[in-house]
Amino acid sequence: MNREAGMPLHTRIFIGLAVGLGLGLLCNIVLPGDPRVQWVVANVAYPAGQIFLRSIFMIVIPLIFTAIVLGIADLGDIKKIGRIGLKTLLFTVVITGISVLIGLTLVNTVKPGVGLSEQSRTALIGALSNNEKVSGIVTSAGEAKTPIQTLVEIIPRNPLADAVYAFDPEYRGGGLLSVMFFSVVFGVALAVSDPRRTAPLVQGLQGLYDVIMKIIEFAMNLAPYGVAALIFTTASQLGFEVILVLLKYVLVVIAALAIHQFVTYGLIVRFFARLNPLKFFQSIREVMLTAFSTSSSNATLPTAIRVSSNELKLNRDIANFVLTVGSTANQNGTALYEGITVLFLAQFYGVELTIGQQLTVVLLSILAGVGTAGVPGGSLPLVVLVLQTVGVPAEGIGIILGVDRILDMCRTVVNVTGDITLAACVDASENRASAKDTGVA
Ligand code: ASP
Repeated sequence: MNREAGMPLHTRIFIGLAVGLGLGLLCNIVLPGDPRVQWVVANVAYPAGQIFLRSIFMIVIPLIFTAIVLGIADLGDIKKIGRIGLKTLLFTVVITGISVLIGLTLVNTVKPGVGLSEQSRTALIGALSNNEKVSGIVTSAGEAKTPIQTLVEIIPRNPLADAVYAFDPEYRGGGLLSVMFFSVVFGVALAVSDPRRTAPLVQGLQGLYDVIMKIIEFAMNLAPYGVAALIFTTASQLGFEVILVLLKYVLVVIAALAIHQFVTYGLIVRFFARLNPLKFFQSIREVMLTAFSTSSSNATLPTAIRVSSNELKLNRDIANFVLTVGSTANQNGTALYEGITVLFLAQFYGVELTIGQQLTVVLLSILAGVGTAGVPGGSLPLVVLVLQTVGVPAEGIGIILGVDRILDMCRTVVNVTGDITLAACVDASENRASAKDTGVA
């Protein structure tokens, strides 16, 4: 009994995946179309999957708000660190944007989610979308807004309404994107307010954030059962086709992450930080290994801080500031993964996304990179929210959850390497600026 309790969560999720997948495939092969299997899907597996999904859904709104507000407010005295903050922000947005574009190009080229027979897709949608709400979402994807409309509606008329109705497929406002926008404005205003008056608010938000982290921990304990239920529902209807599709998806994510890790970062380090990319990657291998084994940017932060000052000899103040903010706000690997996952699931479900909706995916993925907690599986609630926003059935998360741990390990390496790359660039440009000042003096 104790042994089971002590088993790491990712092992239990893998077991859940294997059991759900094995049983599902068995039912698919031995009892195809059997009414008893349909009964189990409708009355056991589907509701069990929903319980897990809902336990993630319920913390999405407060999570976005506190993570974004605190991430920005952590900048502190904005006048003093305005220059560094601005560089950090610019770099984060541009490089995260590049990472999402790499992901989207690859997923649009390889199309890992396409190729399902119409019959299988119908069976899957029937099984996972066993309620009217989800079919409503799928239909509403066809009634897309224009890109201009989407952009204007990001600015909320009533952020509370956006938060309350964010998961209502019939709601036509900005939804979660507007909630994120409001959080960014709130965070900036908080950062420039008088800290003597706002300190209790920051403390309160930090407390709320900590409680939300605990709830995520509780919810993730349901993951092995949730994954088993969701994947059983899928596999019992789909069979081997699902495995092939999943394999292609995993390979596309890993290939895109590798391109961003070695090509994009390599070039940035070479041209902006003026470091030899090979030496750079060699110096930070301990950081990459820690990120890979913990799947958590936050847990890797102490190692990243130590290596950046001992190995890369970066200025300690700059590195500490950039790495700390980056461990929550600069998540390139996560943003790339979210973009691919949403498009993959849209392909999987046969939901056509317009250019406007793809633009929404890019924007949301960049913002999700800012709003994702640096903990294992931290991006899962945000994947659900992006899916919801562009009208792809959120149940699709059950399809990818079983392989998520390995992708989480890889994307965390890219997230943390991005933070150190950012710190090295800001450090180099600050050094250049002060050398210039000294030269002038
Ligand atoms: N595990 C990731 C990190 O800590 C976040 C995620 O993408 O789930 O960086």
